[in-house]
Amino acid sequence: MIDLKNLTIEKAHQAFTTGEFTCRELAEEYLKVIKEKNTELYAYIEVFDDVLAQADEAQKRFVDKTATILTGVPFGFKDNILIKGRVASAGSKILENYIATYDSTVIKDLKAQGAVFMGRTNMDEFAMGSSTQTSYYGPSRNPKDPSRVPGGSSGGSAVAVAGEMSLVSLGTDTCGSVREPASFCGLVGLKPTYGSLSRHGIIAMGNSLDQAAPFSKTVRDSEIIFNALSRYDKEDSTSVPDALRVPKKSSSKKIGVPWHLFKEGVDGVVIENFKQSIEKLKNSGHEIVEIELPFSKYSLEVYYVIMPAEVSTNLSRFDGIRYGLSKEADNLLDVYKKSRGAGFGEEARRRILLGTYVLSHGYYDAYYNKAIKLREKIRQEICKAFEDVDLIATPTTPFTAFKLGEKMDDPVAMYLCDIFSAPANLSGVPSIAVPSGETAEGLPLSIQFMAPHFSEGSLFDIGKKIESLR
Ligand code: GLN
Repeated sequence: MIDLKNLTIEKAHQAFTTGEFTCRELAEEYLKVIKEKNTELYAYIEVFDDVLAQADEAQKRFVDKTATILTGVPFGFKDNILIKGRVASAGSKILENYIATYDSTVIKDLKAQGAVFMGRTNMDEFAMGSSTQTSYYGPSRNPKDPSRVPGGSSGGSAVAVAGEMSLVSLGTDTCGSVREPASFCGLVGLKPTYGSLSRHGIIAMGNSLDQAAPFSKTVRDSEIIFNALSRYDKEDSTSVPDALRVPKKSSSKKIGVPWHLFKEGVDGVVIENFKQSIEKLKNSGHEIVEIELPFSKYSLEVYYVIMPAEVSTNLSRFDGIRYGLSKEADNLLDVYKKSRGAGFGEEARRRILLGTYVLSHGYYDAYYNKAIKLREKIRQEICKAFEDVDLIATPTTPFTAFKLGEKMDDPVAMYLCDIFSAPANLSGVPSIAVPSGETAEGLPLSIQFMAPHFSEGSLFDIGKKIESLR
């Protein structure tokens, strides 16, 4: 029996190296759990049929000494990350049978390292949601309490790791889609600096906001994955060249807390836990100061204008001709209408409509242009805050994992999940969610930190500190 609960990348690597267990034996353990639990928790839409063959290939690298730290490490992948020859449906009906024709860059890099690909994980349709309930394939469930959601949109990737169906996983974070499910499932979720990991081959939602992002049980594991995947990629026009990847300074001493951002709408138990974490940091020598982020107060409003605008543009390529589901009709326009009408779910349609509206002539200035201006103000004020503090701390989410079915008929209540996530995506800075305790009912709580662009190092330092103080 392998102790999956406490397994980390380094422990697995050590075990593969010493022969304590093989890549195949580890993969088999995870497949066993998947067989037991996936029907109920629904982490995976598809478990790949060649997992053991991949593990055997990985094992050879320990024999010929070409293994890297990620060789043989089992990963789950969100269903919007292209893997050549495999379906990538982004949790949707319209792409249900779409087979990727190339590898995304993150996948190419992980293949080169010999990682083992367990399967593609469930997600909200086109990454729109905070609970994995908008997936065309049905919801995932929280391993801590299956009557509750795991968060979203990368819920399946979170459930895979929290439910011991994979050692680590990749999701994407456009506005908290990794940090929020990490928070609900008791995991570490890292949203790297925009432009640090390649977006090439990842189905776009809001392309000025999207980032590939890892889930893990420990901060160290997220650090290992980040280090393995963060690089300049000429295939991604927004990838940041090496010379510009300069961290501010690696320090996590002075922490700013924008208390005014969570005066209301945040559960008492979340605030209480956050205060305790801050107190512990203070006692361990961190300087805590109150900061004001007056523009960031509008982050959610800004996000919910910019994101749908980008969604309406990005999803226009799914027209029944170029990709995915196609419905027959008498003329081209009707092919578009019927295919899109049949292929997109309710939330995708809502956002396409909203985005088309805010971009339309006559409303563009009133909504989209205004949001773009505010976004720049938010970016500037966050960068300015980092002239004085090393990190900014908030709770990760305003509440803990909610019940399945809750908030589904109230989109605005669902959008409120993202209140603390939005500033990092709008400004491009990195952010990490780290477990900070549990409620009396055993539901995970989480603290979030933001750092200056490319200062992931400071996030790993503070994350490890939080782990040591628990
Ligand atoms: N909750 C966010 C939304 O619904 C999640 C977006 C994301 O990070 N993919 O837009």
